[in-house]
Amino acid sequence: MPFYEYECKQCGVFEKMQKFHEEPLKVCPTCGGPIHRLLSNSGVVFKGTGFYTTDYTKAKALARKVNKERQVDNEAILDRDIKGFNQQVDKTNLEIKDL
Ligand SMILES: [Zn+2]
Repeated sequence: MPFYEYECKQCGVFEKMQKFHEEPLKVCPTCGGPIHRLLSNSGVVFKGTGFYTTDYTKAKALARKVNKERQVDNEAILDRDIKGFNQQVDKTNLEIKDL
């Protein structure tokens, strides 16, 4: 379940775990004053699952890059160019190491 961030003028910012379809809170559960929901980039903050948007995006970009490099390797095999293939593998390994 995602956490939503709310701001109360009295109590400051706090987080509330809510289902996606749940109505946003209108009053502070602590002081009963008016609150408003803060919108982060995604509108939703995931916590406690080890899921972080930035890591995920980075991992996806990495996977895409590795795939692309390996595809060049495979094309070298198709050309039956073993020497070129080995050079390409070395080059790919270097590039992946730098990521
Ligand atoms: Zn409050």
